[in-house]
Amino acid sequence: MNDEAVDPRFIMQEQPVAERIIRVIVGRNDVSSAYLLYGAEGLGKAALAHWFVTALQCECSDPASRPCDECLACRKCEAGNHPDVHLLEPAADRTTISIDQIRDDIRPVLRRRSYEARHKIVVVPEADRLTPEAQNAMLKTLEEPSGSTIVVLISPSLRPLLPTVRSRCVQIPFQDLDYSSFRSRLQRQGHLSDDACRQLYLATAGNVELSEAIAASEDQSQRWKTIEQLAEELVNSFFPSPAEITSWADRLSPDRDSAREYLSLLTVSLRARLLDSGDAGQFRFADCVDVISEMDEAIASNANVRLALEVLFVKLREVLNSDYN
Ligand SMILES: [Zn+2]
Repeated sequence: MNDEAVDPRFIMQEQPVAERIIRVIVGRNDVSSAYLLYGAEGLGKAALAHWFVTALQCECSDPASRPCDECLACRKCEAGNHPDVHLLEPAADRTTISIDQIRDDIRPVLRRRSYEARHKIVVVPEADRLTPEAQNAMLKTLEEPSGSTIVVLISPSLRPLLPTVRSRCVQIPFQDLDYSSFRSRLQRQGHLSDDACRQLYLATAGNVELSEAIAASEDQSQRWKTIEQLAEELVNSFFPSPAEITSWADRLSPDRDSAREYLSLLTVSLRARLLDSGDAGQFRFADCVDVISEMDEAIASNANVRLALEVLFVKLREVLNSDYN
């Protein structure tokens, strides 16, 4: 989900801990080699990371005024074409970031001198998609004396990252929104009743960006209703006979991209349903995420979508029915 469009000032009001850490780094110009922004989806991590990277590259002489939004560096960051800011994302048709990408794309970039800025910055918007080998290679890059290199990692949780990576990073936590922040953000885009806000808050576990999309778009709202129904059946485990599995797989596979979008919605809905049910719910949810990522990977790399979904539902049913106590 892309959250770059959100105004970073709102995010800072909602995330006082992250704001304090970032303002100290920028204001004192006291820069480390690696940062890790982590927290649930939809809290504005990507937008705040973009603000942070712009502030690090800003040429304004007073650190407290960075980013100034006026200098050349700020304007290039805003346009997404600063030559010393590099995005590292999964290659097309892959869902993970491989060690080859670190070796072939990132190392050469970091070895050469920066073009114009004080820092060379690599941003990894989905650091949870780095394979363990890629994470180790990334660490090695940080240890090479290659001038001022900064890596900014963004991840929905700490869990996918190796302890050696976590300990190397300055950690910037994003907290789940409380209901009143959630409601005021949602009502900023138009009138929504308190009831509707509260329902979305519970159903999405406070994912404000998804809730905004559901409130704003009839299509997204329809997709969300479909997924809520599926999640309900999966979690309540009457589900499903082989015929029902086939019928759900048909419904969610109009095309590859839609199927992947549905899987990301399913993750949100399962999170909201499972995370409140104690340790067993947490373990179940973690296993669901593993199974969903595995199938998402298969779908991204050309597996038959309908078959992959059928396998997914069978595996989810096993995870949700197994005894974790
Ligand atoms: Zn500037």
